[in-house]
Amino acid sequence: MEIRHIDIDYGYCSDRNDLSDEDRLLLVAAEKACTTAYAPYSNFRVGAAVRFDDGEILTSSNQESVAFPSGICAERGLLYFVQANRPQKKIRTLAIVSSPSPTECTPCGACRQVIADTEQRQKTPIRILMGGAQSTIVIESAQALLPFHFTLPATKE
Ligand SMILES: [Zn+2]
Repeated sequence: MEIRHIDIDYGYCSDRNDLSDEDRLLLVAAEKACTTAYAPYSNFRVGAAVRFDDGEILTSSNQESVAFPSGICAERGLLYFVQANRPQKKIRTLAIVSSPSPTECTPCGACRQVIADTEQRQKTPIRILMGGAQSTIVIESAQALLPFHFTLPATKE
């Protein structure tokens, strides 16, 4: 058997002030969205924000249900909303943050799949900013977040 390797390039920014104004503002928008989270069970509030190619920004937050696990993550709920309401637009950047934010907020596996689905559908890379209190991880494409992501062999859109 041949052993193969996957290398992932990502940016790490220890000081948010070193990011571009656009990226910093998107992280702030995601942080504001944390205040709309409904997370009485986990007490872990997550905010997500997307910036489209035309500059429009939309945000969302995680929503939990007493009928666990019927809630939804911030980024997945946001991407579903985008597909339902802005299907023609392309997402340039997705920012994800949490409150509290002891470290960078990274998406769960289900969200990684949906981000990869969205990127594949729009046919252009989605940059992802995973924000912490001051630090940020930056990746240039969802493909790096989920190697070997699931696809249907005959998918045509
Ligand atoms: Zn998730």
